[in-house]
Amino acid sequence: MADTGAGGAAPVAGVMGWPVGHSLSPVLHGHWLDRYDLAGHYVPLPVAPARLAQAVRGMVALGMVGANVTVPHKEAVAALVDDLSATARRIGAVNTLIVGPDGRIGGDSTDGYGFMANLDALAPAWPTDRPAVVIGAGGAARAIVDALAERGVPEVRVVNRTQARARALGADLAREATAVVAIGTEALATALDGAGLLVNATTQGMAGQSPLTVDLAPLPADAVVADIVYTPLDTPLLAGAKARGLAVVDGLGMLLHQAVPGFQAWFGQRPTVDAAARAVVLAALARR
Ligand code: NAP
Repeated sequence: MADTGAGGAAPVAGVMGWPVGHSLSPVLHGHWLDRYDLAGHYVPLPVAPARLAQAVRGMVALGMVGANVTVPHKEAVAALVDDLSATARRIGAVNTLIVGPDGRIGGDSTDGYGFMANLDALAPAWPTDRPAVVIGAGGAARAIVDALAERGVPEVRVVNRTQARARALGADLAREATAVVAIGTEALATALDGAGLLVNATTQGMAGQSPLTVDLAPLPADAVVADIVYTPLDTPLLAGAKARGLAVVDGLGMLLHQAVPGFQAWFGQRPTVDAAARAVVLAALARR
């Protein structure tokens, strides 16, 4: 093991959240550091909202290489970095901070990348040339819709309880090649007609939340159903999709893949999302 960080010290990264104890990121990054035998540290950083700006700047003073950012800081931190990636600017949120050698702080959002990498890995034949339906218009939905538009999906139908939020998302993220259409929850069945992909990007179906009940009958037989909720892994939506014989993609892979770009930038090694990484995170979830 060689020390690779600034000043000869091993690189230090972490995750800023409030609270942060629930974050699975330290377990995942710790696993990859061990697995690739890298000198480095990844630590939970409890950062109160009032201290966020100090904490972000403090990374530079402490010689840290960067950090992940989680709830409730993802939006606020976008205004605190020196360089925002194009993706982060479009969706208005940051989950990965990278301190450059010059001390400038870059902010990126890798949730959309993580969603797409997981979808490509688990359902490589998903129909990219047909409309996609995204239920939800919160932070995760914005990242997913943006990634679908980046891929060139012709239409994204956004179905959300609060329609105004879906319309605002469409206004921000529609592109020349991708229409982003807000659709009321009462018209969900019509939205599913002809779709190639259905994504739950709401909190519905999470343990302790109301389930998401969708009549999947209008979905074509080759459509893929993805849920980004991962507690539980087998959500009511995915159980219903499996019962109908549809291909399904669970939410854990997105969590694993979104961590890849940060780990590579901080520790100099592109990590692999594999069964071992999935197992350590699943074990941590089971201990919660
Ligand atoms: P958020 O910004 O708070 O958005 C929540 C979304 O859920 C909104 O669209 C909201 O609708 C909707 N919603 C909440 N309760 C509802 C209800 N009872 N009925 C109908 N709609 C409801 O949250 P987020 O950050 O986007 O996260 C959403 C989910 O994705 C969470 O479960 C989170 O854990 C998960 N997530 C997973 C990953 C992963 O890596 N797998 C990454 C990020 C997030 P309104 O607009 O009408 O309020």
